Amino acid sequence: MSNTTLDHEALIVGAGFGGMGAAIELKRQGVRDIAIVEREDDLGGTWHVNHYPGLAVDIASVTYSYSFEPNPNWSRLFAPGVELKGYAEHVADKYDLRRHMEFGIVVERAVWDDEGEFWTVHFADGTSRTAHYLLTATGFLSQPYTPDFPGIDSFAGEIIHTTAWQDGYDFAGKRVAVIGTGATAVQLIPEIAKSAEHLTVFQRTPIWVVPKVDFPIPPVVRRIFAALPFTQRAARVVNTSLLEMLMVFGVLHYRQAKPGNQVAALLSKAHLRSQVRDERTREQLTPSYDFGCKRPTFSNHYFRTFNRPEVDLQTSSIVRVEPGGIVVEDGTEVEIDTLVLATGFNLWDVNFPAFQIVGRDGRDLGKWWREGRFQAYEGITVPKFPNFLTLNSPYSYSGLSYFTTIEGQMKHIARLFGEMRRRRTDRFEVTEDANEKFLARVTERLGDSVFYAGDCASSRSYYFNQHGEATLLRPQATLPSLKEMSTFPLEDYEFA
Ligand code: NAP
Repeated sequence: MSNTTLDHEALIVGAGFGGMGAAIELKRQGVRDIAIVEREDDLGGTWHVNHYPGLAVDIASVTYSYSFEPNPNWSRLFAPGVELKGYAEHVADKYDLRRHMEFGIVVERAVWDDEGEFWTVHFADGTSRTAHYLLTATGFLSQPYTPDFPGIDSFAGEIIHTTAWQDGYDFAGKRVAVIGTGATAVQLIPEIAKSAEHLTVFQRTPIWVVPKVDFPIPPVVRRIFAALPFTQRAARVVNTSLLEMLMVFGVLHYRQAKPGNQVAALLSKAHLRSQVRDERTREQLTPSYDFGCKRPTFSNHYFRTFNRPEVDLQTSSIVRVEPGGIVVEDGTEVEIDTLVLATGFNLWDVNFPAFQIVGRDGRDLGKWWREGRFQAYEGITVPKFPNFLTLNSPYSYSGLSYFTTIEGQMKHIARLFGEMRRRRTDRFEVTEDANEKFLARVTERLGDSVFYAGDCASSRSYYFNQHGEATLLRPQATLPSLKEMSTFPLEDYEFA
């Protein structure tokens, strides 16, 4: 390390699975002085913030976990959220990450000093720290979105966003509205319907829902996973391969494999038909865009909730909120006591990046992305941002499990830091040329995906940014992506 007066060798923003994975890899690479700063009051990222009823993974747990840290104790094929939080705590303890973590720290800005070769990271409390390396692991879905409905501030009852759940909130005897029908709402709505006096679901865009094949993992199987870890690894390979087929043929190669995508849509339609009695409700719940434009969901309970007499589906647009309820475009006034906002997250305006980051020559990352194109070499580094790794970047999401993305990035970090050790240097920066070539390659490949070759016009999917480009997923199968992350040409970087 060149400058021994810095506060830290590496500063990681975010103590979720991404930040923890990066810290584990940095430690393996010999980086000792690591600070992990986190806005929330505990670790776990999305699995700490979200604790609404019904929360569970929708990628089977054998796959939705670090491959190097299998957990034989998942209670179900799709573990409930609380187990993910427990798993995050276990990882933090086992890899001795807690002593690096500081909570309740909100980062506002980070600026690169090219002469001194360090980052200054400014916090909301007015203090700042310096670090040689900066890593952002701030999540894709971490800036909650509340639509600016006229009159919402006048609402007399309780407003609950799903990311700020009030544990134990009692819906009994209450008239409840849920706005939104994304993956969160699909898990939450059947739970609220169990106790609410009346529930109105406000849907703007229907979502594709397929059956969830879920079951408790018997204790004997868990004991086998613990005693013979290769058995759980085999289960992971099988499950990951199935997901991979879904992603490669259903999403990335839509143009060539359209029938596969259509089979998924038919499966969802059959599921809907078998679960919802009323024809008009079925029609309202049927998406008009291709499967995969938006993240599909898995549920055996969502559709059938609309058969309940005390549950209404409202598809007329919301005009305003009043103290006692919601008024929609056709003039209907829905009286409610509690308003639940399952309205998701803002990705492209406030989350890429999650705070201001200014690199070499004054390049402002957020401005550069928004005024030009969203881009990041291999979904992790950006030209003019030396010693900076952005884990939640355009084109970084690889595979359907977030852990594939994290582990690919860990490989990238390993190769980068290994090369710096070999060269006895401590500065890296991706070249403009390498970045442009990567951007051109992913742009071309995405042409075959459902996002461009399919019909996504009515999907309102957060996969698309404000320029109408689908810049979240890396359009490449998992194995070649992982290989590329550990074999990328070293000439793609300049090492000081
Ligand atoms: P989301 O998918 O963005 O859904 C937000 C919902 O709110 C949409 O139905 C949206 O309608 C609606 N909405 C937003 N603004 C509105 C407005 N002004 N008027 C009416 N409706 C409005 O958010 P999410 O459900 O929280 O899910 C986000 C992602 O989190 C998922 O895609 C998934 O990746 C992840 N997630 C994962 C799990 C899991 O793994 N178990 C569970 C939950 C979430 P439009 O579609 O019309 O915009």
